[in-house]
Amino acid sequence: MADKVQRISLAEASRRSGKVMQRGSSDDLPETATPTLQDLAECLFFTLGDGRIWLNDRRMLLVDLASVGHLRRELIESMGIDRARALFTRIGYSQGSRDADLVRQRWPSDDMASAFATGPRMHMLEGFVKVSTRHFEFDLERGYYLGEFLWHDSAEASEHIAAFGISHDPVCWMQTGYATGYTSRLVGRTILFREVECRGMGAAHCRCVAKSADDWGDADQDLAALGVDWSPRPAKMRAATETPAAGEVAEPVPGHSAVIGVSSSFMAARHLLERVASTRATVLFIGESGVGKELFARTLHELSPRSGGPFVAINCAAIPDTLVEAELFGVEKGAYTGAVATRPGRFERAAGGTLFLDEIASLSLVAQGKLLRALQQREVERVGGVRSIPVDVRVVAATNVDLRDEVRAGRFREDLFFRLNVFPVTLPPLRERRDDIPLLVGHFLSLFSREHGRSPRGFTRRATEALLNHPYPGNIRELQNLIERGVVHASDDGFIDIGHMFRDGDALPFSAFTLLADGRLSSAPLPANDAAPEQEAAAGEDPFDRLVSSGSTLTEMERRLFEAALHRHRGNVAATARSLGVTRATLEYRLRKFGLYEPREGTE
Ligand code: ZN
Repeated sequence: MADKVQRISLAEASRRSGKVMQRGSSDDLPETATPTLQDLAECLFFTLGDGRIWLNDRRMLLVDLASVGHLRRELIESMGIDRARALFTRIGYSQGSRDADLVRQRWPSDDMASAFATGPRMHMLEGFVKVSTRHFEFDLERGYYLGEFLWHDSAEASEHIAAFGISHDPVCWMQTGYATGYTSRLVGRTILFREVECRGMGAAHCRCVAKSADDWGDADQDLAALGVDWSPRPAKMRAATETPAAGEVAEPVPGHSAVIGVSSSFMAARHLLERVASTRATVLFIGESGVGKELFARTLHELSPRSGGPFVAINCAAIPDTLVEAELFGVEKGAYTGAVATRPGRFERAAGGTLFLDEIASLSLVAQGKLLRALQQREVERVGGVRSIPVDVRVVAATNVDLRDEVRAGRFREDLFFRLNVFPVTLPPLRERRDDIPLLVGHFLSLFSREHGRSPRGFTRRATEALLNHPYPGNIRELQNLIERGVVHASDDGFIDIGHMFRDGDALPFSAFTLLADGRLSSAPLPANDAAPEQEAAAGEDPFDRLVSSGSTLTEMERRLFEAALHRHRGNVAATARSLGVTRATLEYRLRKFGLYEPREGTE
């Protein structure tokens, strides 16, 4: 899903914008070109307690060189040197091309000479090799690039020599791939790097030359090596070598857009969804508030043979007990005072399609009985009606409370529970799928930028850090709100900073560790009140305006009110209830409905 994006190349985007430097060379570089190595180093940070290392918004892995050397040896021995070389070249290519995206995204600039020069610095930051640039020149209009670089103390060469001794051919495969990927990405066509000298062959250092495949003239083999099927997504890789998979401008595919992720817990849920979609089975989504249950239900519908039929959603908690039966099953004229006309219910309106019942636990026992009958006999009876109406509806339900507990407490019918629990799908909270955060952030950024007609350039480094570290008690909905707030508050063409997204009252995420100039890791505290100009206005903004401007439903506002009140009283339910002027029992009941309260021993 995530890779189904329409892409245009960076070069193409630059041409369209029409203001980017088209021709240039390393001679155009200023004394201190930006981003500096320190700027780049600040993109690398460690969330120590979380088991993650990030390069901006990409998760990294610290693997020691000896282990990579081991992998290299095994691959050379098992698949032969040609295929192993091709494989490592492609791994390098993929990383280089992603790094080019990162650089363009974090430091968008018209100065293409600096963008090209940043590649070698990224290469150094990542520990591959020390690069000195001899010369490069380019002409984007013609897709021309020529460069010459020296590589000192190549990591790959030292591993190769250790394992196999001096070689007849160049051995810095991943590094060559990296430089090829980075540069090709910026130019918009394949610029091949080749080592004309290599330390692995006994030279003092590696020297490489870069030019387009056409200019090399004999590049078929290199191109084939770059394009061979090897990944689960070969099409993407092939595309990367022809027209670069440059994805600065990524449009999510409509329809499935928000059900995106790559984390294992997300993929597990997604897999279950795909398994069950083609059947008629009743599906029960279980998950905290804000994890996207309705989107999953909608996706289930779209993937099912019923996708041509209607998708009807109803939030059972949002409708008063007295009206919910009429809403679900319809009503006959005169059934009660106010029933002035006969009206079909949601069941009938969902005929041939899918009916999604959210917050199923809040249905009254009477409504539960009727629902059970509808599920068992596939027919409904309108309120005040005398005849049964057959309905062909797939029912999908969702809950944020444990239905077994509700059954035990006598609030939920056991027979209905078993009827609904045929195919339970548990949706993970966002804190358990943190690897999806970059993807979701990118998605919501482009979504809200379009929706609000804004064009922020992206996020500041510490805003990225904050987004990656936040605990998200409100799950995807909370992330979505943060990004929308950021898009609205940030100035056009500016970066979204912490102050644009987080407010007083939002718990600021703990800080991450980042690299200092001398290479040590340091805890970099996130300044809470680093006032972006707009933040001042925001701080004085009326809370009511804030709630309304967030485009909330009444239910959503209620949930947020409870959340804010709980926060103010540090989770003390009794104090929160007093402040809101309701009984503790009432508050607990509402909180449980919103998934904001799990009675636990010893709490409170
Ligand atoms: Zn080399």
